[in-house]
Formats: sequence, structure tokens, C-alpha cells
Amino acid sequence: MSLQGSQLLERLTRAVRDRRLTAFYQPIVSGRDLGVTGFESLARWNDPDLGWVPPHDFIPLAEQNGLIGAIARHLADLALGALSRWRAAGWDVGVSLNVSRGQVLEKDFCSTLTEIAAEHGVAPGWITLEVTEREAFLESPGVCEVMREAVSRGFRWSLDDFGAGYASYHCLVDLPLSELKVDMRLCQRVRDSRVKRMLQSILELAEALEIESVAEGVEDVELTALLREVGFLRLQGYQIARPMPIEATLGFLEQASGVDLARGA
Ligand code: C2E
Ligand code: CA
Ligand code: CA
Repeated sequence: MSLQGSQLLERLTRAVRDRRLTAFYQPIVSGRDLGVTGFESLARWNDPDLGWVPPHDFIPLAEQNGLIGAIARHLADLALGALSRWRAAGWDVGVSLNVSRGQVLEKDFCSTLTEIAAEHGVAPGWITLEVTEREAFLESPGVCEVMREAVSRGFRWSLDDFGAGYASYHCLVDLPLSELKVDMRLCQRVRDSRVKRMLQSILELAEALEIESVAEGVEDVELTALLREVGFLRLQGYQIARPMPIEATLGFLEQASGVDLARGA
């Protein structure tokens, strides 16, 4: 490992120990009426010297060095705490958690999540677990069983970055998925009429399998309109809102309920 890498690991280890990692929450809205249906939890690390370190840098480091379990538990605790606050305030929203490969195969994955959900008094049915198809692990032994166990406890699964990775049609048929999150780079090419038709057929495929659809990377008003036209059930992206700290979420929910997000007002 480079010196820079080992220093980053040392700082990350301290940040995890001191529970200084946090989460931002990005709204997910209905493609039908643009009402907020939930938030995705995204890991954030603000190092005193380095500033904000992107999750693309520290999540793989955490995975390679045995820190991901501790990070995931801490973030699940924060996110399910947030979910409990939103629900207590009367909002019918869920939360999506990113789950990495190492975590799924930890033996107490399902029981830990169930315990954290119970501690916060939130139902597993409000919690979506996102696995990315960027890594070729979905067909590894044991993964499908863990996913099925989580479903039997009430959790939902989403296949993230769909269209950018390795998931085979077998995965779509065999894994207990509730949702497909179509890769943002594909969604952002919807202005191309061939891509638009392809996205429509991805949604037909999802519908045939009784799986819901989410479009990611919705960055402007035109993309919002086109992706709604394609028929995505839910949308997520900077046009709707950037990921925000928990303190901003209740205000966002209040404001979004009275604003026409389609017009970017
Ligand atoms: P992801 O799960 O695909 O998350 C979406 C990423 O796209 C987030 O980046 C989000 O901030 C960004 N994004 C959202 N809307 C837009 C948009 O309209 N345009 C563009 N260009 N980007 C948008 P972020 O937060 O930097 O996260 C990057 C990746 O790191 C995530 O991709 C996910 O794979 C991973 N990650 C983040 N948090 C966690 C975590 O708690 N656990 C695990 N295992 N992975 C995480
Ligand atoms: Ca995700
Ligand atoms: Ca994604």
C-alpha cells in the first residue's frame, strides 16, 4: 500500500473508532406525482485535514481492511434513527442503505439489521438494501440465501447501477429483488431515442418480473420529464435534491410537499 494509502487507512480507522463518519440523505421521489417516497443514505467522512473524502475512496479501503462491518453498523444505526424521526413526524417514507459485498457475507448480517430496526422501532418493510451489480459477486455461493433470509424478515432489495455491471438475467430471475436502480449514465442518455427505447424495454422487463424501477442521476428539468415519460416509478438526482444532512431533511419534506419539483421551483 502507498504511504498515502496507509495514512488514509490510519485516519479512517480513527474516524470509525470515534464514530465521526456520518450519512447524508438524498430524496427519492415518485415518477407519478414527484412526492417524496424515501431517502438514500450515503456515507460521508469529513477529515479535519483532508476535508470531505469521497465514499468511492474510503468505502473500498474499508472493505479491503475489515472496517466495513463497523462502518455499516454505524451508518445503519444513523439511517434507521433518521427513518424513525421521519415516520414519527408523519411522513410515509422509507430509507435505502448501500450494502457492500463484504457485509452481505458477514454471518450476522440479517440479525444485526433486524436488531437495529427493532431498537429504532422501524419496520423492515420501510428499508431497502441496495447491492451494486458493478462487482461480480451476486452469483457467489451464499449471497442469494442471505438475500432470501433478509426478505423473510421483511427487508427489500434493490439492484443498484443496473446496466453498468455484471448481473446476468439469471440474477434478475433468481434474486429476490424488489427494485432495479438503473445506472445514472444510462438514464442520462435518455435524450438519444435509441437509449430511450432501451430504457422503456428495461422497464418492461422489470414489470414482467414484478420489480419496481428507479432512475438515478436526474440532473435537470428535461431529464426529469423524459425519464417520467419513459415510465420510471421513482426518480433520484440533483434536480430533485442533492444529498443533505439529517437536519435538513424534515425541512425538505415540508417544502417538497408544497412545491412543484417538476418545474424546479
Ligand atoms: P451510488 O450508491 O450509486 O450512489 C449514488 C451516487 O451518485 C452518490 O454519490 C450521489 O451523491 C451521486 N448522485 C446523486 N444524484 C446525482 C446526480 O444527479 N448526478 C450525479 N452526477 N451524481 C449524483 P456518492 O455519495 O459520492 O457515493 C458514491 C458511491 O459510494 C455510491 O454510489 C455507493 O456505491 C458508495 N457508497 C456511498 N455510501 C455508501 C455506504 O454507506 N455503504 C456502501 N457500501 N457504499 C456506499
Ligand atoms: Ca446506491
Ligand atoms: Ca447507483
